[in-house]
Amino acid sequence: MAGFSGGCLCGAVRYTSKVDPVRVLNCHCTDCRKSTGASYGTNAFVPADAVELTGDLHIYEHLADSGNKMTKHFCPSCGSLVYGTSSGRPNVLSIRAGSIDDSAVITPAANLYLKSKIPATPIDDDITGWPAMPEA
Ligand SMILES: [Zn+2]
Ligand SMILES: [Zn+2]
Repeated sequence: MAGFSGGCLCGAVRYTSKVDPVRVLNCHCTDCRKSTGASYGTNAFVPADAVELTGDLHIYEHLADSGNKMTKHFCPSCGSLVYGTSSGRPNVLSIRAGSIDDSAVITPAANLYLKSKIPATPIDDDITGWPAMPEA
């Protein structure tokens, strides 16, 4: 059955996606590291119209290298980052994989921004690696 669900640490925010992630990417950029508080971010991309959310989210906006405005959506109660959006792809949600209930759908296809990875982070050489963003 396609789709998955997830939510924040305290449970105030919950979501359901009707579809499996279109793509899952590990991102080792500094923004992902800072915003997730983890060694790298694993992001599951889904069409925004496939996702139903309940609960209130707060946002934080910043600019990416690309000049796109990035918006982080997080739970105001527990602080969990739930998903991000980019002005470059407004109809796509980048769901933070750690919030997903069903770990079977978290299957990263590539590592991005390896140039800024933490040296100790192990890398799966079986998937594609990019020094920064892949060339479009
Ligand atoms: Zn929460
Ligand atoms: Zn990143």
